[in-house]
Amino acid sequence: MRKLKRIIRIGNTEIGGENPIRVQSMTKTDTRDVDSTVNQILELEELGCEIIRVAVKDMEAASKIGEIKKRIHIPLVADIHFDPRLAVESIKNGADKIRLNPSNIQDKEWIKKVATLCKERNIPIRVGANLGSFRERPKDLVKAMVESVKNEVEILNSVGFDNIVISAKTSNVLTTIQVNRLLSDMFEYPFHIGVTEAGPLSDSLVKSSIGIGILLNEGIGDTLRVSITGNPREEVIAGYKILKALELRKHGLEIISCPTCGRAEVDIESIVTKLNTDFGNVKTELKVAVMGCVVNGPGEAKDADIGVACGKDSGVLFKKGKIVKVVRGEEIYPVFKSEIEKLLNED
Ligand code: SF4
Repeated sequence: MRKLKRIIRIGNTEIGGENPIRVQSMTKTDTRDVDSTVNQILELEELGCEIIRVAVKDMEAASKIGEIKKRIHIPLVADIHFDPRLAVESIKNGADKIRLNPSNIQDKEWIKKVATLCKERNIPIRVGANLGSFRERPKDLVKAMVESVKNEVEILNSVGFDNIVISAKTSNVLTTIQVNRLLSDMFEYPFHIGVTEAGPLSDSLVKSSIGIGILLNEGIGDTLRVSITGNPREEVIAGYKILKALELRKHGLEIISCPTCGRAEVDIESIVTKLNTDFGNVKTELKVAVMGCVVNGPGEAKDADIGVACGKDSGVLFKKGKIVKVVRGEEIYPVFKSEIEKLLNED
């Protein structure tokens, strides 16, 4: 059961409450390079990215936010560390949310200034803790992370600010889960979840699916980022795959395909690769099955929106549970593709 948190508006998008759990990512370009940053954001939008974060490491990067915002369609979060002037400049340039830990700012007047500006413009601030936030690894990391987040929230509350999103991430799956469980019981602010510094694609997919998956299954999490050392496209794709696996969102293609074995008499892997290339970006919800033989093939193919159960150099095509065609060898994929296109056009 979802733990319902306060609803927060980030630009043209809401998180929290019963809003869909939002998929976000972070650009890997130099924010000062407006064209590259915009191109990357537009590519991520195309995949369904709903909130984008950009690194603001200097005043020039902050000053580019306005130009970037004009050319994108999703809310932009300015990621700031240490220097509150960068937050002020980002806000003035139209950032929709700020990621900033007030404990990193020594001068309370600056905290007040940032909070006041955010309040005037209804801009939320994401606060939180990462393992990297600690100079030395604390003995009890879970406790230290919880205390650290409480401290960040208290600082903002003390200057009258409570438009807050909470985030606590580590690269350790179990620690991340424990910390978020404790914090979720303490705060009614929405939660941004993820396992941070989760490694390259396959490492991250495992860690993130377990960490984010367990939290979501316990009702914790209003927005997520899958952190991957690699192309941010994979972050968005993985985010939706996790949400779809838990039946929390519907989005695009779901491929049911068998792992193949000695019984397969058709190259299932090449069909699945082509499917992913041709339809990996569709937003319409569609369950497609590709099965290697008659053992489990017809059952799965029937259950999908469209499926093919292959046999000896042939495939039986099912649409909405009914056999529509029997196709021979090389024709399997082209015919399957055109039937999928027809289904998509019906929607
Ligand atoms: Fe093997 Fe057939 Fe199962 Fe595919 S469906 S894994 S080919 S037994």
